[in-house]
Amino acid sequence: MTARHVALAEGALPPELGAYFAERAEAVDRGTAEVRDGLRRLADHGLLAHPDLATSCAVLEEVARRCLASAFSAWAHTVVAEYLSLSSSAALRAEVPRLRRAETIGSTAMAPAMQHLVGLADLGVGFRHDGASLVVDGAVRWASNLFAEGFLVVVGAAGPGGTRAVLAIASDAPGVHAGAPLELLALGATRSSSLRFDGVALDPSWVVSTDFEPFLRAVKPRFLLLQSSFCLGLARAALEAAEAGLGRSFAAFRREHHRLRVDLDMLGVRHRRLIEGVGPTPAVVAHRLEVARMARLAVDVELGVAGGGGYRASSPTARRLREAAFLPIQSPTEGHLRFELESAASNEEPTPVASVTR
Ligand SMILES: Cc1cc2nc3c(=O)[nH]c(=O)nc-3n(C[C@H](O)[C@H](O)[C@H](O)COP(=O)(O)OP(=O)(O)OC[C@H]3O[C@@H](n4cnc5c(N)ncnc54)[C@H](O)[C@@H]3O)c2cc1C
Repeated sequence: MTARHVALAEGALPPELGAYFAERAEAVDRGTAEVRDGLRRLADHGLLAHPDLATSCAVLEEVARRCLASAFSAWAHTVVAEYLSLSSSAALRAEVPRLRRAETIGSTAMAPAMQHLVGLADLGVGFRHDGASLVVDGAVRWASNLFAEGFLVVVGAAGPGGTRAVLAIASDAPGVHAGAPLELLALGATRSSSLRFDGVALDPSWVVSTDFEPFLRAVKPRFLLLQSSFCLGLARAALEAAEAGLGRSFAAFRREHHRLRVDLDMLGVRHRRLIEGVGPTPAVVAHRLEVARMARLAVDVELGVAGGGGYRASSPTARRLREAAFLPIQSPTEGHLRFELESAASNEEPTPVASVTR
């Protein structure tokens, strides 16, 4: 990637913090180390859910270069801070410093809301009014950071008369049930599972926003750019790992590696430009799709260069293969992003999307 982009990202973590995430990546992959400890470490350095988007993106990229599961957990936590910062509720805005200190852990169960925004899904969660309170019922299939010690989850919910809202719910509220953590490829330590809400009573101060669509449209570019950062971090790690073995490998891999480095440079430049301008949603959607594909292509070339050794389950190459397998099914999924771009293209002049697929 460009010297400027790489320098900015690489400077994002103090060396000891970088070493911390690198050293525990294997244990996180096995599910024997807690990603929650990583959130605390970032908080100790004032780097968790940093208010400056460029800094937050650089931190996620650098953590992902060492451990995608840790970066994904930090991403989920960071977007919760983003939602609450934009909330009309003063009580929720006051939670943001606690999130930055990792005293509250954030979980985003917003995949159905993001799908709903583009007409792909129902919210699965509803609310009704009961006196001054809201009563929440329903379920979401997935959320991460569902730590037994507690979390604050943000979810989209449908209300009476076609209203919709974004709600924050504390895990210790009566009626909140988190499923048991699932056994997963690479992301087992992220404590990901389903959530059910059975008649959860909420004070109105827990309403993040009742301006459902404008709120989601406002957070979406930052949501996607933060995700793009951890895709870039994984891509860079894979190309760096491949580089070490290129000299004794096939010329075809050297050519492929060179092409991917050039593409990654281009994506790094665009990433910074989009962060600086918090670019328009269609451009960010296309970017997010491309960086996720780039990460998978980079891991493919890493495996080709590593050969059989890369297939040993305990190798960093095999871990990155598992990490990369998550990218097309994280929300917005590859299917969702392509649907959104195709819908935008059929409604207006086609948006050119430089392809890194070959
Ligand atoms: C480890 C892990 C952690 C996660 N963490 C979080 C989290 O923290 N927060 C969160 O919100 N979500 C989270 N998710 C959910 C994730 O973001 C995606 O929403 C989820 O993986 C999509 O899978 P699904 O089962 O909902 O698939 P679906 O979206 O239901 O897709 C299943 C199949 O149906 C197809 N399909 C779906 N919709 C349509 C349609 N409208 N038209 C045609 N075909 C369609 C898909 O292409 C696919 O073939 C997590 C998932 C995993 C695996």
